[in-house]
Amino acid sequence: MSKKIQAIRGMNDLLPDASPVWQYFEAQVQALMKRYGYNEIRTPIVEQTALFARSIGEVTDIVEKEMYTFDDRNGDSLTLRPEGTASAVRAAMEHGLLYNQTQRLWYTGPMFRHERPQKGRYRQFHQVGVETYGLEGPDIDAEVILLSARLWKQLGLFEHVTLELNSLGSNEARAAYRDTLVAYFEAHREVLDEDSVRRLTSNPLRILDSKNPAMAAMLSGAPQLMDHLDQESRDHFNALTARLDAAGIDYVINPRLVRGLDYYCRTVFEWTTDALGSQGTVCAGGRYDGLVEQLGGKPTPAVGFAMGIERLILLLETLNIVPEEARAPLDVYVLGMDSATDGDAMALAETLRDQLPELGVQLHCGGGSFKSRIKKADRSGARLALLIGENERDTGQVAIKFLRDDREQQLVEQASLETTLERLLSD
Ligand code: ATP
Ligand code: MG
Repeated sequence: MSKKIQAIRGMNDLLPDASPVWQYFEAQVQALMKRYGYNEIRTPIVEQTALFARSIGEVTDIVEKEMYTFDDRNGDSLTLRPEGTASAVRAAMEHGLLYNQTQRLWYTGPMFRHERPQKGRYRQFHQVGVETYGLEGPDIDAEVILLSARLWKQLGLFEHVTLELNSLGSNEARAAYRDTLVAYFEAHREVLDEDSVRRLTSNPLRILDSKNPAMAAMLSGAPQLMDHLDQESRDHFNALTARLDAAGIDYVINPRLVRGLDYYCRTVFEWTTDALGSQGTVCAGGRYDGLVEQLGGKPTPAVGFAMGIERLILLLETLNIVPEEARAPLDVYVLGMDSATDGDAMALAETLRDQLPELGVQLHCGGGSFKSRIKKADRSGARLALLIGENERDTGQVAIKFLRDDREQQLVEQASLETTLERLLSD
């Protein structure tokens, strides 16, 4: 017997029981973006490998070891996108969206990274992201943070997440700081783990990000980027925190927040939770003023973030705060009592769909005995069953059976069914 083919490790199916929560989340996101005047952009899932290598940086975890890269049939090196920013910049440049105008964009979709699968970490995962172009002031940094904060409020998560903030300064300030930092690490070389020794020459700031407890004490004594900021970045950061204060958004300044990607400058931030164990970052972003130019465009200030949908759904489920109506239960199950009335049931279901477009109506299909029909109605999860037998058909009536409540079956005129259902389902 041949072995059954299974899904790829770390790539999940979203099963029918789980999809309503995702739809609830997605609907909240869409509504939010509209409220802030952000427009959706959709880009292909596959891009030229060079796009990610050039934008994310050669010495990042993503480019070094996490990308799904392959040669297509023409021998071109392609990569399944590991994140959305590079594609958004590529598309915006390619279609002239950055020419003499500002943009506020958002996207959602699957991303691919070859990581060790665990709770909150998958090889295909999904993000919602926001990217803004052409705005350099701290007002837009504040706006994208307020936008994310509003989503947490909409979802009931605001009390459960913490905003961490840092500034990476200008490229020049960061380069100078980098030298100071490397000197400090050199002086403590004996405490550095293998990864950190490697990063010492390639990406020393990332060492600050290390979770290795053996290095914790040494890291907490390291010189801080905040103390080495250029004046403009300092002003930018202070203006941002003033906006957040005014909006009543609390934050923690985390001097060791450096983010994994090369392209950030000035503002970086993360929203974290301690309800999910070590996969606690649910949203991360910052300013990346140099990226457009790095990819061959005109210098264009940019700020954005990406949130991990799986982690947010996990958080909603863990905290048990998904509203009951988000589970999208079926409203009614329509059935003929036997094969003679199947056609009438179908006609009734269609009439209801005309009259009450919001109603979830499932029609009994597949025939069967009366008993098996009722069983299927029960299993459908609907609140009400609408039954038509030959008697009902001849008298223009329909029987309403309450599947969830202990109530007597009712007979109603088909002509008044619309109003009866509206009343019954709004209880
Ligand atoms: P981490 O430090 O957890 O690896 P990251 O810095 O690599 O995160 P980003 O590239 O900033 O993550 O992506 C933004 C968000 O996308 C993360 O904060 C997280 O919520 C989510 N995310 C990233 N990688 C994964 C993954 N492999 N599985 C599920 N969600 C992920
Ligand atoms: Mg990562």
